[in-house]
Amino acid sequence: MSHSPNFTLWQRKAADLKLEGRAFISGAYVEALSGERFERINPATGKVLGTVAAGDKADVDLAVKSARKAFESGFWSKMSPSDRGRRLIRFAELVEQHAEELALLETLDMGKPISDSVSVDLPLSITCLRWFGEAVDKVYDEIAPTPGTAVAMMRRAPLGVVAAVVPWNFPLMMACWKIAPILAAGNSVILKPAEQSSYSAIRIAALAVEAGIPEGVFNVVPGKGETAGKALGLHMDVDCIAFTGSTDVGKLFMQYSGQSNLKRVGLECGGKSPNIIFADAPDLQAAAVSAAWGIFYNQGEVCNAGSRVLVEENVREEVVDIIVETGKSMRVGDPLDPATQIGAMVDDRQAARVMEYIASGKAEGARIVSGGHQPSGLPGCFIEPTVFDGVKPQMKIAREEIFGPVLSVLSFSDEDQAISIANDTIYGLAAGMWTRDVNRTFRVSDKLNAGVVWVNCFDHGHISSPFGGFKQSGFGRDKSLHALDKYTDIKTTWINLG
Ligand code: NAD
Repeated sequence: MSHSPNFTLWQRKAADLKLEGRAFISGAYVEALSGERFERINPATGKVLGTVAAGDKADVDLAVKSARKAFESGFWSKMSPSDRGRRLIRFAELVEQHAEELALLETLDMGKPISDSVSVDLPLSITCLRWFGEAVDKVYDEIAPTPGTAVAMMRRAPLGVVAAVVPWNFPLMMACWKIAPILAAGNSVILKPAEQSSYSAIRIAALAVEAGIPEGVFNVVPGKGETAGKALGLHMDVDCIAFTGSTDVGKLFMQYSGQSNLKRVGLECGGKSPNIIFADAPDLQAAAVSAAWGIFYNQGEVCNAGSRVLVEENVREEVVDIIVETGKSMRVGDPLDPATQIGAMVDDRQAARVMEYIASGKAEGARIVSGGHQPSGLPGCFIEPTVFDGVKPQMKIAREEIFGPVLSVLSFSDEDQAISIANDTIYGLAAGMWTRDVNRTFRVSDKLNAGVVWVNCFDHGHISSPFGGFKQSGFGRDKSLHALDKYTDIKTTWINLG
């Protein structure tokens, strides 16, 4: 396969990168107190990328102390919203100035195509930091319509110390969706990146300090989920956990909260999103191409991936053909090549898990119409875009989150059946629908149990619109002003005027 001319350029830049793998506590990079580190393997090459400090309970204790002290000092928590906002905007600018370096870290760490890191992950992360910086001094509190003998003011109060525990699929973007509103609201934060993707989180800590975010307000403790993550979940002095990750681990955080100090928990968990294509879609070709990207983008490692495409029976063949052709045209290859569209799975474990699901789909009698293999000639954890047709709602590949480039196509004969199949899942993160019937758009979106419903598009969004799930996809919203609800409590001050 020929490579894009810029491939070698990116390879050279990658070779020149200096990786910082230490934790960031109290405004300085520090080793884990145990001195332990863990290795990070570049999934595209199978070679060791570097090592990262293995933070554990002791490091979490230190970071929480530092975050608490910073919060209590009031320097950040009581700073005027416009001053906090200015520093967040400066933070966004610094991330922008280092966008190329950060994009490389994302790609090397978790295998996503460099073109996506550059054109999606970084711009959306920067936008998020900037948007909350710009928004925070435009949020008003409330006065209740009490009788004239009293004034009741409802003000948003920051919670204190918030821990953000995030996954590896969009490492920086998921982190920014948490830290921007957490910081905007005046809290201190401890960011725990996923063990598969710590470098970008560690790198931005220095930029936060350079932007004027005071020491102790922004800390990063890399480490394993079962040690650092659990210690945050159980910590008596952490006021809130902002979690994005799997539903199973989300449930653990609810338990940790109950076993400790009843800390607030916000959960953005898994999904098995339906994408319903009715025969009256305004443009079947566009719907099918979008459905292919809706599952194969980011190697299918997307929480809201449209992993179940539901097609009206009389157009199924036509739609499946277009999806298959679109999948086959996607270029799977080295993530550092700007021409690559599908990179490597995050690690061996995830690639093996996805291959097990492919085997299970075959064993349960679904018809594989495209892909299904690990491409020959590529090292690492690559998997071809894979399409199963003739999938039945009870099959494992129709029920469980695969988190890989594997699409299940199911068919339906009428609207009620489509809705019933779409809702037949423990998840409720997102759903898509393609139709030209405006009444149907209202009727069906009303009945779909999902936090986001896309009509005649898939995976569209904007920082101003909330994102989050129903059912076991979690609760609480990222993005938009609604995100501030998770990181503030309403304090009512009742002033008697009688
Ligand atoms: P994961 O649940 O394994 O890990 C997420 C985070 O939790 C990591 O930082 C990890 O270290 C930590 N963790 C793991 N085990 C832990 C434990 N026992 N105690 C405390 N912390 C622990 O998820 P992942 O594999 O990193 O990411 C994939 C999952 O994330 C998928 O299910 C995907 O749907 C979900 N996700 C959801 C959204 C959303 O917005 N809803 C976005 C991206 C990813």
